[in-house]
Amino acid sequence: REASAYVRSLVRTVPDWPEPGVQFRDITPVFQNPRGLRTLVDVLVDRYFDAKLDAVVGLDARGFMIGPIVAYELNIGFVPVRKIGKLPWKTISESYDLEYGSATVEVHADACNAGDRVVLIDDLIATGGTMLAGMHLLERLGAKVIEAAALIDLPDLGGSARLRAAGLPVFSICEFA
Ligand code: IMP
Repeated sequence: REASAYVRSLVRTVPDWPEPGVQFRDITPVFQNPRGLRTLVDVLVDRYFDAKLDAVVGLDARGFMIGPIVAYELNIGFVPVRKIGKLPWKTISESYDLEYGSATVEVHADACNAGDRVVLIDDLIATGGTMLAGMHLLERLGAKVIEAAALIDLPDLGGSARLRAAGLPVFSICEFA
């Protein structure tokens, strides 16, 4: 609880970015602060230490800042889920709707083995669309997605509820209403 409040206190809220009306939750101050970085990594490592995971899956792009540190500490591998067109090998993809338009994410077809236990990591859950697409990708590879983890949940946007309704447990270090 203390860790959660501390991490939350370091998140910067930027009004009207990237467009008017949006309150952007900026995690860069958490990473800039040595105690902030250690706290957020420790919370996630403690949570998954005994989860018998085979890999950490990070979502493009801020999941790439968090996921590899956690994977390193758990002594397991890291798998990136990327925005379309960035991965060089054979991929599978999932598209999902955004407020305006759609987005597509990909993972390498050989990124994990059937039966692997993985956790998805990103900085923030808003509508849950990104995490849901990641879950579908990993499930198509035969992995067992045990949880979606984020630094920040925005529960009012319904994403974490949507993920739980889809059968995916959700963990967040802190929330903003
Ligand atoms: P969702 O797919 O609607 O849940 O949106 C989550 C994705 O959008 C994540 O990959 C986030 O990095 C990004 N995102 C949305 N809003 C914010 C924000 O306020 N701060 C940081 N990232 C955000």
